[in-house]
Amino acid sequence: MYRVIRKRLRQIRYHSARQERTVWTNLMDAMLFAAPLLGIALALLCHAMVETSAPRLPIQGVVARDASGRWGAALAGRGDPIPRSLDAGAVLLIEFEVVDESRLLGWPLHSAVVNPPHSLEATFADPTSAASAQSGLEDPEARGAIATLLARKHPEAAEGLRRTTPEVRTRWYALVGNAALWWFGLTLLLPTLLLLARFIAYRFELAADRRAARMRRKGLCPSCGFDVRGSYYSERCPECGELLE
Ligand SMILES: [Zn+2]
Repeated sequence: MYRVIRKRLRQIRYHSARQERTVWTNLMDAMLFAAPLLGIALALLCHAMVETSAPRLPIQGVVARDASGRWGAALAGRGDPIPRSLDAGAVLLIEFEVVDESRLLGWPLHSAVVNPPHSLEATFADPTSAASAQSGLEDPEARGAIATLLARKHPEAAEGLRRTTPEVRTRWYALVGNAALWWFGLTLLLPTLLLLARFIAYRFELAADRRAARMRRKGLCPSCGFDVRGSYYSERCPECGELLE
């Protein structure tokens, strides 16, 4: 299909206007050919480089140890009441947050999801310091209580905590979609830029022509400005050798 479109474009440009191939028409062909390749390259580049943090649920909870050393966990956000069953007999109570650093890659569509292992962060502890709160969260039994709780309420978060290596999922349809979108965008953008460059070049040429004509009228060499009124019969400027008319 691409070839058909290209052929059609060429017919329009070459046959209706009887135009010859110039630097500009060659550039236009090169750009149409380069657009899909550049589109794939840019989609892959964004797939590797453009990163956004994935939207995620803030998962907060409390884990508490009672006098007998047993741990219990419950979900409770900031400002939410801590369940009485945990609060009552607790000797150590830690409020925690599940830290999920998932990232999305690719642009404009997200062509990959990277899920590193989740971690637990102590946000508040009673009655201990922040340092021992964090080490309290490392207690295997505390982690076990949290894991059991999450497995019931937020299976994905539980899975994230269990993970030890980052999980990478590539969305192939999005990657192909990105390449197509880049291709489409470049197919519009590159010829527009080329047209603009052509227009600017044309304006410069026009200005140069006018300037040369003005200088010739004044009897000056259009190239170096040497006064050639004295050398009326010579073909070339005696100073720089430019052809005069
Ligand atoms: Zn000259």
